[in-house]
Amino acid sequence: MKYEYQLRVSPEQAAKKELLLREVSKHSGISTEEIRHIEILKRSIDARQQAVKINLKVDVYVNESMKETPLELPEYPNVRDKEEVFIIGAGPAGLFAALRCIELGKKPVIIERGKDVRDRRRDLKALNIEHVVNEDSNYCFGEGGAGTYSDGKLYTRSKKRGDVNRVLELLVAFGATSEILVDAHPHIGTNKLPAIIASIREKIIEMGGEVLFETRVTDILIENDTIKGIKTLKGEHFNAKNIILATGHSARDIFELLHRKRIKIEAKPFALGVRIEHPQQLIDKIQYKCDDRGEFLPPSPYSIVKQIGGRGMYSFCMCPGGVIAPCATSPGEVVTNGWSPSKRDQPTSNSGIVVELRLNDFKAFGDSPLAAMEFQKSIEQAAWLYGGKTQRVPAQKMVDFVEGRISANLPETSYKPGITSVDLKNVFPEFIHSTLQQGFKEFGKAMRGYYTNEAIIHAPESRTSSPVRIPRDPKTFEHIQIKGLFPCGEGAGYAGGIISAAIDGEKCVESCIRLMNS
Ligand code: FAD
Repeated sequence: MKYEYQLRVSPEQAAKKELLLREVSKHSGISTEEIRHIEILKRSIDARQQAVKINLKVDVYVNESMKETPLELPEYPNVRDKEEVFIIGAGPAGLFAALRCIELGKKPVIIERGKDVRDRRRDLKALNIEHVVNEDSNYCFGEGGAGTYSDGKLYTRSKKRGDVNRVLELLVAFGATSEILVDAHPHIGTNKLPAIIASIREKIIEMGGEVLFETRVTDILIENDTIKGIKTLKGEHFNAKNIILATGHSARDIFELLHRKRIKIEAKPFALGVRIEHPQQLIDKIQYKCDDRGEFLPPSPYSIVKQIGGRGMYSFCMCPGGVIAPCATSPGEVVTNGWSPSKRDQPTSNSGIVVELRLNDFKAFGDSPLAAMEFQKSIEQAAWLYGGKTQRVPAQKMVDFVEGRISANLPETSYKPGITSVDLKNVFPEFIHSTLQQGFKEFGKAMRGYYTNEAIIHAPESRTSSPVRIPRDPKTFEHIQIKGLFPCGEGAGYAGGIISAAIDGEKCVESCIRLMNS
């Protein structure tokens, strides 16, 4: 027999089996001897009160053991000789499109400009240590896309739980911890993601799909508004009737290509600001309301949003116990983002703090569909210039930033290439700078202790979402003008984050195959 219960326990009771057993017994009235197994279905942390509690939803098995049913992969057919679907980009959108493509009996051919997860590491090292930006292999480009060397946070605002669970279960079947099915805010960690991505690729190849690395797409061939083929930098030519275009938010050459070929694209508002780093202990103190979080609570995240002068200003992609990474995709620019290992055991926490932008903000760059992208680029280039024309980023202590003072010295940072003390008003347009200045004071009122010179502001955080939308039919997901072209994932403007990109990849290929079969 199995019974479901909801209970609130201390972090220690949630962490230790024998204490949890006693709590469940007390709560349910079932003796500890009768309880064979407790399965945690959902877990969330409630830090609103002085004493932090863990909310649990559990299944309690009485007088019978739980039947372990390990998550299995779908029955993938061999598609070696089947009709091809071309997928450009091996990020979450491209990889999950390929898996679904196989499930539906077609052969995916993934074309990826970057390297596989192992070789990609060397380029990340060169970026961090030698300040060398490889335009095809960096934190955004390469196997697994922008998600590979990330925090691997897996939460999404998607309301369709079925779709989300399907992606989470696939990730577990490919090697992720099953804890991601339980936690309210699941994450995987940079150290674990590459192996999961590699096993997805191995399955795609085993079932007859193809994955071409170090193959940058440079042209999409079109006749009579219909997809005909793909050209690559190496000079290869593929005949293609269908393309899932999943090239991510940083593939500026793809946006430029589409614009040059008069394929309809639109400027899209996004958010831009800075990445801020605090000591993790300080964030724990604020969030858990105690001096030391102890051994049973994880490093605390935070999430904050305020309206400042009519604009939203909010935390983005917060990484507890994490590191700030250099995420430029071309020489001559600097970009920050963050990652953390699965244990989130670094001494610092970082978060993007960004200001909502509107189409009107890009008018200095004309009314081209690339105006938002050019605006984004101009700030990344200014930051590169002021940072010292390397991958060092311009930085300022938080109170100094708000009070308009250049920081006389800067504390240590997790950002490996290094930081340069700069007055960041030189990097940002006035409206972004002043919104951030006001906003940080407001954040300090909402989270006492947050507003401090112990925090370092790194500039800029600029790749929060795509600056371009590639318009598609809402029902078929096909481009509104080009037959056989399926704009997909974050770069096309239809996803934000690993899970929503993966879901969009599945949806695009399902529609593509439905149209192929009709
Ligand atoms: P991408 O992942 O950007 O993949 C696009 C792929 O297309 C890339 O591999 C690229 O090399 C390839 N490509 C581009 N142009 C071409 C071309 N011309 N020819 C061939 N291939 C091409 N999201 C979360 O949900 N949780 C997180 O914790 C998180 N942390 C992040 C941390 C970092 C450091 C970064 C950079 C991003 C993070 N994100 C996170 C965002 C997340 O990674 C993206 O939302 C997601 O990867 C988007 O998926 P996608 O498949 O649409 O595009």
